[in-house]
Amino acid sequence: MIIYLATNNKHKLEEINEIKPKGFQIKGMFEILKNFEVNEDGKTFIENSIKKAIETGRVLRAPVIADDSGLEIDILNGFPGVYSARFMENKTYIEKMKYILKKLENVPYEKRSARFVCSATYYNPKNNTLFSVEGEIKGYISYSILGKQGFGYDPIFIPEGETLTFGQLGQDAKNKISHRKHAFNKLFSLLLNIPKLEIIS
Ligand code: IMP
Repeated sequence: MIIYLATNNKHKLEEINEIKPKGFQIKGMFEILKNFEVNEDGKTFIENSIKKAIETGRVLRAPVIADDSGLEIDILNGFPGVYSARFMENKTYIEKMKYILKKLENVPYEKRSARFVCSATYYNPKNNTLFSVEGEIKGYISYSILGKQGFGYDPIFIPEGETLTFGQLGQDAKNKISHRKHAFNKLFSLLLNIPKLEIIS
């Protein structure tokens, strides 16, 4: 089954390709849609992932999956949350991470709790099937930027039970436990059951 991923983020495509079960072929929408972007103005991850899936699916006229994700830091009331990609626009992730670390200066480790959240939506414009799932991973914000692997905020996120950041742990370790892994595991297992769902309805 070929499904397009509604993103221009090549890292997300790589991660989802590592996570997907056999039998699915996931392609980036950027392979066929040039300069197409969805305005992510939703107030929640789920709102944005549904919007991305529907708008991209309608343009492509093919089944799509969308991922909307971000980092929520408890002591900052969930910031940057849905603004993870857009806050301090035009600045690098190093600058964004430095800004966050400055805000957390003098905050002890146990109060640096955070989570990555991923909302994943499947939409098939041919039969109007749509469903969304969510996955998360809890952890803590490190005291400095550590490691060069992954993308976005990976170098300041230490998963619960670990001592290294996602940026240090690397892709294989991340893909076993990440928010994206949890969300897309649920999404692919629902997709494998779609024929049954259609019979029931
Ligand atoms: P989106 O494309 O609107 O979903 O933006 C998600 C943003 O959240 C990304 O650009 C990253 O800044 C951040 N983010 C989401 N998932 C991850 C992850 O797995 N690692 C690091 N940062 C992430």
